[in-house]
Amino acid sequence: MALDLRFRPWRRIGPGNAHRSLWVDQALARESPAAPRALENEQHADVCIIGGGFTGLWTAHRLRDLDPALRIAVLEADACGTGASGRNSGGMSHWWSKLPTLLHLLGAEDAKRVLRASTAALDDIRAFLAEHRIECELRSVRSVWSATARTQVGAWNGMFSAAESLGLTPPHRVLAAEELRALFGKGPYLAGVIEEGATRVQPALLARGLRRAALERGVEIFEDSPVSRVAGEPGRLVVQAGRGRVYADKVVLAANAWMAHLPEFRSSIVVVSSDIVVTAPIPELLDRLGMRDRPGGVNSRQMLNYGGLTPDGRVYLGRGGGTLAFAARIGPAFDWSPRQAAEVEEDFRFLYPELREVPIERGWAGPVDRAPAGLPWFGTLREDERVHYAMGYSGHGVAASAIGGRILASSVLGRSDEWTSLARCFQRCRRGGYPPEPVRYLGGRMVRAAVARKEMAERQGRQPSLVDKALARLAPATITGRSPAVQH
Ligand SMILES: Cc1cc2nc3c(=O)[nH]c(=O)nc-3n(C[C@H](O)[C@H](O)[C@H](O)COP(=O)(O)OP(=O)(O)OC[C@H]3O[C@@H](n4cnc5c(N)ncnc54)[C@H](O)[C@@H]3O)c2cc1C
Repeated sequence: MALDLRFRPWRRIGPGNAHRSLWVDQALARESPAAPRALENEQHADVCIIGGGFTGLWTAHRLRDLDPALRIAVLEADACGTGASGRNSGGMSHWWSKLPTLLHLLGAEDAKRVLRASTAALDDIRAFLAEHRIECELRSVRSVWSATARTQVGAWNGMFSAAESLGLTPPHRVLAAEELRALFGKGPYLAGVIEEGATRVQPALLARGLRRAALERGVEIFEDSPVSRVAGEPGRLVVQAGRGRVYADKVVLAANAWMAHLPEFRSSIVVVSSDIVVTAPIPELLDRLGMRDRPGGVNSRQMLNYGGLTPDGRVYLGRGGGTLAFAARIGPAFDWSPRQAAEVEEDFRFLYPELREVPIERGWAGPVDRAPAGLPWFGTLREDERVHYAMGYSGHGVAASAIGGRILASSVLGRSDEWTSLARCFQRCRRGGYPPEPVRYLGGRMVRAAVARKEMAERQGRQPSLVDKALARLAPATITGRSPAVQH
């Protein structure tokens, strides 16, 4: 049967919305206000990329590297970088913390290979940014993976023993109790490991910089152009967006969680929000409290907290595992949810007791494509091999999307190289098996509520119930955790 993909109607968050990501507003404020170009009439392209976030834009660049003559069109529903790419916390993570999972799923050699790719991606990104003069506050920072409840202590042991079995040394060092106290003062930090040279970025500046460079390299970018349909015809694909259409030989699906409802992904992805709150700049207060050098990082909850300080002295905190989407429907709670924001603010007061009185200036949310193993995969559609995609970054796609761009570019051009071979490793990390709706949503809500109760009990030093502990084990993996889909 001929391919006929239908996207859901687009719901725009729009400029001036108080809950749009602060990073996006900051990035757009630095640009000259040229009106975005929407798709009109008919266009022809060799490759049409759907989605103008990191994945779509990296793919466009790597295609351009491989074939300077290729006609490349990017269709973005809103403005490039306003999806997850402009809303995240800018942690450019590698997959050291996923090493036990990689080892279990792939065996020693391929686990090492994927791990190496995740660290090499950081150098690859740095080199590209320098070459194309993209200023995005890329910086090397100290980052701590911590335990903020007794049960989280030693969450990193699996990484150290997997590394030891492979003869590798992680970039983390265990913190002594006095070091922890010196770094986190009154914060509830019980143990942790530090990485001295972690990488952070202002993500929306990166996304908008990739867009600018892509335009300079002759990539056609159409914004305000939500794709409604991709149809397969013999000899070409037809992509319908707003009042226009693109005829293309190949299509790349890079619409992240917004395409999780498509049949290919339905059983392998749950869409869940990640929610962030941020203070106004408070550099003097941070100096006074001796907090200016406090490292950011993550704790080891299942509803993982992540956060840190910005160069201008704001403090931000996020939390994964927020709103659950029914049938991958991305509603307004995926832009901002007062309920999730209030809970993350509670986490903020817990993790930063010194900043009890500091108001939260802004909050927003974004959708995350959670795969059971917490790892992405890159593939072609079963119905039509002219359509390639990236899926399942699971809240860790800032650096991984650069690998995605290389893999997708090579796959689209039908090459057989290190990237298409790496793609085969990722495909082995794919796990299906989420139940269909409404069981998935109802079950997911039950599991989420159990995780929330369990973690609150642990925070308060109480014993969680056995039922909550058992249910919590069913949650999909985070970057620091394991999943029931991957029995080690
Ligand atoms: C709050 C939050 C915090 C996060 N923190 C981190 C972090 O610290 N580190 C990390 O590595 N990762 C983090 N992530 C995950 C990371 O942001 C994503 O994995 C990454 O941005 C994915 O990039 P993408 O290009 O695939 O998706 P997106 O940036 O979401 O791009 C998809 C694009 O497709 C567009 N689109 C959707 N539907 C259509 C359509 N029908 N037609 C045309 N265009 C369409 C969207 O508007 C969007 O711009 C976080 C995510 C969130 C939400």
